[in-house]
Amino acid sequence: MIHEIIAVGPLQCNCSILGDEVSHEAMVIDPGADVTEILAILARHALKLKQIVVTHAHLDHIGGANELKAATGAPILLNENDAALVAMLPMQAQWLGMRDPGKVLIDASPKHGEKVTAGALTGEVILTPGHTEGSLCLYFAPEKKLIAGDTLFAGSIGRTDLPGGSYEKILRSLHNEILELPDDCVVVPGHGPLTTIGEEREENPFLQQ
Ligand SMILES: [Zn+2]
Repeated sequence: MIHEIIAVGPLQCNCSILGDEVSHEAMVIDPGADVTEILAILARHALKLKQIVVTHAHLDHIGGANELKAATGAPILLNENDAALVAMLPMQAQWLGMRDPGKVLIDASPKHGEKVTAGALTGEVILTPGHTEGSLCLYFAPEKKLIAGDTLFAGSIGRTDLPGGSYEKILRSLHNEILELPDDCVVVPGHGPLTTIGEEREENPFLQQ
């Protein structure tokens, strides 16, 4: 699997570009900004973009989705429980001093357990409400890799004080879903360095009982 991670935009959101080496089909997760750079990576690997997955509708994760869709024709997947945050994008842009990306149309709302594919790449959708109501993670079982959005960070968890956030729900999502994954699963958080489930199980202060 081709996997490039670039930190995009002023808030340095980790954007993943995943590609299948055989079919050259790809998916991009959290194109928050810097679409020119994302397109250059796709071109460098000769990848055809098939899916744009947004882990949640905060501007730093969704801000470049429209532009990437316009450039590639790939559909935008985002859980419908974040529709209220999509409607708030102009306000989010104002808060963050970023450009309003315009109205983002969701092409499909991934359900819990659904498989998102591009060529041989298969990511399983894990709905993890808490940071936002519609937050999701994508788990690539064969590669033991979790794209975690802002649900889990190295040594921390997503904030829950923004609209739609719930501390109770994020803890439930982490304990019931994420900590079920194997210890050697690599976690790609929405911001900051990579980690593993095992490290977070041991060290993350928010995950201690
Ligand atoms: Zn967020």
